[in-house]
Amino acid sequence: MSVPGSRPGVGSLPERARTAAALSWRAHPLATVGSVVIALVSGAAPVLTAWLTKLVIDGLATRQDLGRLLPVTAALAAAGLVLIAAPSLSTYVQGQLRRTLRTLIYDRLFAAVNMHPGLSRFEDPGFHDELRLGTEAGETAPDRLVTSSLAVGQALVTMAGFVATLAVINPPMVAIIIVAALPSVGVQLSLSRRRAAVQARITPNMRRQIFFGSLLTTPEAAKEVRLFGLGDFLRGLMLAELRTVNTAERDLDRSALRHHGLLSLLGTVVAGAGILWAVVSAAGGGISVGDVTVFVAAAAGVQAALGSLVGQWAEAHHALLLFGHYLAVVRDRPDLPIPAAPAPMPALRAGIELRDVWFRYSSDHAWILRGIDLFIPYGRSVALVGLNGAGKSTLVKLLCRMYDPDRGVIRWDGTDLREISPVDLRERIGAVFQDYMSYDLTAGQNIMLGDLAFAGDNGGDRIEAAAAEAGVHGTISALPRGYDTMLSRTFFGDHDQESGVVLSGGQWQRVALARALMRRHRDLLILDEPSSGLDAEAEHAVHMSLRRLRQGRTSVLISHRLGTIRHADLIAVLDDGRIVERGSHDDLIAAGGVYARLFDLQASGYEPAPATPGGDSVRTTTPRTRSSGR
Ligand code: ADP
Ligand code: MG
Repeated sequence: MSVPGSRPGVGSLPERARTAAALSWRAHPLATVGSVVIALVSGAAPVLTAWLTKLVIDGLATRQDLGRLLPVTAALAAAGLVLIAAPSLSTYVQGQLRRTLRTLIYDRLFAAVNMHPGLSRFEDPGFHDELRLGTEAGETAPDRLVTSSLAVGQALVTMAGFVATLAVINPPMVAIIIVAALPSVGVQLSLSRRRAAVQARITPNMRRQIFFGSLLTTPEAAKEVRLFGLGDFLRGLMLAELRTVNTAERDLDRSALRHHGLLSLLGTVVAGAGILWAVVSAAGGGISVGDVTVFVAAAAGVQAALGSLVGQWAEAHHALLLFGHYLAVVRDRPDLPIPAAPAPMPALRAGIELRDVWFRYSSDHAWILRGIDLFIPYGRSVALVGLNGAGKSTLVKLLCRMYDPDRGVIRWDGTDLREISPVDLRERIGAVFQDYMSYDLTAGQNIMLGDLAFAGDNGGDRIEAAAAEAGVHGTISALPRGYDTMLSRTFFGDHDQESGVVLSGGQWQRVALARALMRRHRDLLILDEPSSGLDAEAEHAVHMSLRRLRQGRTSVLISHRLGTIRHADLIAVLDDGRIVERGSHDDLIAAGGVYARLFDLQASGYEPAPATPGGDSVRTTTPRTRSSGR
């Protein structure tokens, strides 16, 4: 996986560690402090136990009186209790921390996603990768980081404790202990490095495996999978990816086994030699019997602590690398510049002007709009016509400021859209896009989303009115639960196991239109092919209704059926990113240009194909699956 180590914004590793610690503190101060205290106590307990054991044994060996031995023994029992209780307590406290941290991380991550006013990030595969890794890392990294840092801290306390203890008893023991522990340190280090490399290598395989698996279950894919008989083929691809992952993991585990086996043997030999030395020294009276027990405990304790230290250090390092993805998302700048002091946005009075607007989706794409000049007067209806790919939908997206023009300017009553807050701008616009959404929600909710002011119980009448204007009230009323019917077969209703209803493409389109009409009193109404999926009769009915609604309102209508736009106040013909003709229907017919030719063609019964690159009747329930060919 790509690791954003040196990118600006994501910070150096120490800076990331500080951010992660601050997040953890922010999420749950008590659990953070609790975790640290438990780790320190757990780190000290083995040392304390060993020391108290030594005191007890030496006391017994020198026949101390019971009155002095008993308190030490009681303390030993207490230390044992701490050792037993600490792991479960730590699991609980860290669980608490993890849960609150997860909520905080998700909150920040998706607030950062929502912060982008435009569309460009969402069309950038790199952003999606970052977001996926960031979500993964955001959920696991701080938690792993906290756990690992605490484990490192705990190991350090244990080690320091033992080393100090041994240094007091007999300094040569310190040297022996450290030499005995070194082999395992080397193994852990090289293994964790290899583990990180293997993980990076198999991540794409895991992603593809998940992708093939999801293809086998999504309803969107099920039809083609069955028609083309792709089921076993895709299953095979999925399993092949899984096998690659398994092989890599097995190789890693085998190597871990080999190294561990070999080096723990080595470690044991050195430790054994140390114990031999300790016993011989004790026999010779050089050290006490209690000292031998401390030495044995220290040998095991330091070895374990060092191993844990190195392993957890590597874990923390890996978590910090991953955490960079999260930081990249939350520290991203908005994809469109937002003015610090947005211009006020009074209701539209004069009109919207496009002046020499040039636009392309990125610098390696061709120009889509090439110097558009257009005035959309207040209270008038403007229609855009043109062949597929002419740039009509793109122009509409620019009007909503989903992108900024590369050159030229769009002005709302004379104010550059870039000086207005995107939120304020969109408050004033109602739109149905060509590639509208179909939400896995109830019919009523699907329409209500057009204006969240109607989210409560008060929305019913307004929703039904919008549905009626879009010609879908009858259809919805006839559903099993009317407006409360779930429009989905993938999700179930709130309470019961009742399945939803699947609408046809044309019915969905009318629901989308109804959603846009929830905002019909806004300053600008945009309708991009609102009837392309409807049959001729329904299309006629919808356009009659729309004509009435557009009367006296500022609106932009795109339709490939020229009969439906002939009453527009102004018709602009777009060709290859330029406006080549403009005027009323009668003007354009009289001019005998592109529009007149297209109109004649349709009048004679021949329809140019409606499918467009934007996707004419594409419905999007799960955008990620639709574009999931990555
Ligand atoms: P129209 O609505 O007139 O059919 P569009 O505005 O949808 O045309 O598309 C104009 C051109 O822009 C097409 O060539 C299309 O492939 C391209 N295009 C549309 N959307 C995108 C996008 N998100 N990224 C890159 N190219 C796009
Ligand atoms: Mg279009």
